[in-house]
Amino acid sequence: MIIIMEPHITQDSKEFKDLLEYLKRFPHLQIKVMEHKGVTRNLIEVHLIGEDYMVPLEEVEHLPGVEKAIKVTAKYRLIGRHGSLSDFGFEYQGIQFNQDSFHIFAGPCAVDTYENTEAIFKVLKDLGLCCARMGAYKPRTSPYDFQGHGKACLPWVFELAGKYGVKVIAMEVLAPHHIDEIKEALEEAGNPCGVVLQIGTRNAQNFELLKAVGRQRDFPVLYKRGYGLSLEESLNAVEYIASEGNTSIIFCLRGVRTHLGDPHRNLVDFAHVPVVKRLTRLPVCVDPSHPVGSKVKAPDGIRDIYHVTAQGVIAGANAVLVEFHPQPEKALCDGPQSLPLSELPVFVEYVQKVRETYLELRRLIQKHKT
Ligand code: PEP
Ligand code: MN
Repeated sequence: MIIIMEPHITQDSKEFKDLLEYLKRFPHLQIKVMEHKGVTRNLIEVHLIGEDYMVPLEEVEHLPGVEKAIKVTAKYRLIGRHGSLSDFGFEYQGIQFNQDSFHIFAGPCAVDTYENTEAIFKVLKDLGLCCARMGAYKPRTSPYDFQGHGKACLPWVFELAGKYGVKVIAMEVLAPHHIDEIKEALEEAGNPCGVVLQIGTRNAQNFELLKAVGRQRDFPVLYKRGYGLSLEESLNAVEYIASEGNTSIIFCLRGVRTHLGDPHRNLVDFAHVPVVKRLTRLPVCVDPSHPVGSKVKAPDGIRDIYHVTAQGVIAGANAVLVEFHPQPEKALCDGPQSLPLSELPVFVEYVQKVRETYLELRRLIQKHKT
C-alpha cells in the first residue's frame, strides 16, 4: 500500500507522526517514507512493504492528513503509477523533466577531439538546445575498440559546455567510480553544466551500478532499457535506482535485440512509449540511433532514423537521444548511425513539427473524449 499525504503535510506535522504511530499496529510491515520535491507540490508518500492485506484501506484513507491510499500490485512500487498516481517530474539545472516536457539530447556517441566537441556545442547553442549527449566512458564489444577518453576529457568537455550554455549532458557511466570522477571534474571546473548519468543497455541489470546511481542525489539518471530484457524486467531494474532514494529518472527506450528487427540493428520498441508512461511516473526518452544503426533513407528521401524518431515523438516521448557528429565517417564509435552535424537544424525542425502535431492530436482527443 502507498499512503499519500495531503500537500501541506510535512514530516514534522502532527498528522504525519500520528499516522506513523497508527502504523505501529502492523509491526511486520516495513515502512518507507518517500519525500519527493515535485514541480507543483511536495509529495510525501508512506510505503508499506510486506503483507499489507490486513491494513484497512478505507480506515487509513480517513486518517487526518491522508489524501489517499492505494493498493500496489506491481513490484516496481516506487516508480509505478499504480493506476492513479501522478508522474514524478523533476527540475535539474533549471530545466523541467516530466511526462509533459520535451527535450532533444543530441551529440556524438563518444567524445573525440576538442575541435569536434566545440563544433557540436556551438551548433546546439545556435539552435537554442540546452541538452546534449556525449560519452566519455564507452562500453565496447571488443577490448581493442576505442573505450572513450574517460576522465581525461571531462575538464574540457564541461568547460566547453559552460562556454556554449549547454546545461545538461547525458553521459554514460560504467562503474560507480565514474560518478565520483564526473562530480570531481564538475566541481573543479566550477560546475559550468550538469550531467545526467546514463545507464547503458549493457548495464541494464548491473544492480550494484544501479544502486550506486540511486544512492547519490547530485545527478539524475537516464536508464536505457536492456536490449535483451522484457519491459517488466527493465522496470524492476529501474526500481533499484528509486529504492535507493533517487527518483529523478528518465526511462529510455532504445530497441531490443532480435533478428526480427533486421535489417535494423535492433527492433524499434517505441510502441512502448505510452505503455511506460502509463505504468510508471517517469518521463520517457527514445533513442532512434542505436536500434536503426545506420543512416539509410526510405524511398521518400527521409532517413529511417527520422521516421523512427517520429514514431516515438508522436507516441508522446518526452525526450530524444540522438547521435550527431561533425564527420561521422571519422567518428571513433557508432559512425555508421551518426548523423552529420550539418543536418541537426533540419532534424530539430522535423522533430519540433512532430511534437507540435502530437500536442495537437492530444487536444483533439481530449476535446472528443474518446
Ligand atoms: C550510447 O548511447 O552510446 C549507447 C552505448 O547506447 P546503448 O547502451 O543503448 O547501446
Ligand atoms: Mn553509440
